[in-house]
Amino acid sequence: MLLHLQTWADVEAYLKTSRGIIVPIGSTEQHGPNGLVGTDAICAEVIGKGIGEAAGALVGPTISVGMAQHHLGFPGSVTLRPTTLIAVIKDYVASLARHGFERIYFINGHGGNIATTTAAFSEIYAEASFDRASNQPSVKCKLRNWWESKAAQALSRELYGDSEGSHATPSEVSLTWFAYPDAARPMTMNPPIAPKGDFTDAADYRRNFPDGRIGSNPGLSSVDAGKRIFDAAVKDLAADYKAFAAS
Ligand SMILES: [Zn+2]
Repeated sequence: MLLHLQTWADVEAYLKTSRGIIVPIGSTEQHGPNGLVGTDAICAEVIGKGIGEAAGALVGPTISVGMAQHHLGFPGSVTLRPTTLIAVIKDYVASLARHGFERIYFINGHGGNIATTTAAFSEIYAEASFDRASNQPSVKCKLRNWWESKAAQALSRELYGDSEGSHATPSEVSLTWFAYPDAARPMTMNPPIAPKGDFTDAADYRRNFPDGRIGSNPGLSSVDAGKRIFDAAVKDLAADYKAFAAS
């Protein structure tokens, strides 16, 4: 159930049955020669929506621009500074908490969001900690990276092994092709597996990883693999969401 397709009265009725909500968070950034710029936002949104359907939970609007400063050397990449993203997450959660949501489950599609999102949770908890007189219900936030679902991880290993890599992976590209089959662009990569390593800023990233990939071969992506990864991740994470919402 998508929040933006409900009326306020629907949401009020939902809150009598559950205090949990799923929030997809992704990024808008280059994903190698054949991956969509929206890959991380699409993956988080599609999996978040799948979990919402499986668990009967509301899914909030996707935060589709994340912390991606290191991708700015490639056209189409858009970033928020860490401090801006922290402010966005704080206001988003405070709005939900105002209406009684107490379990906010972030489904994340982008590794570069992890440190900033976790810092935003600490800011949210710090405000509650400083306010001794607060009579607001306590809000709990959780961040889950969809690709760390045990079932999805096992499947990625089985399908792609050493070609999975860490950016523009065949698993995430397959998932976007499953969501938008018309966007599938089969392609042979050269070299087949991209270089690995670390990076600092956008210029450093582009020097080290000229076509945008890190350690991956998204030439192996397919709609079929995307469907299998979707099913595995949703099953796993719906159970995790239900346990969190009931905690
Ligand atoms: Zn990605």
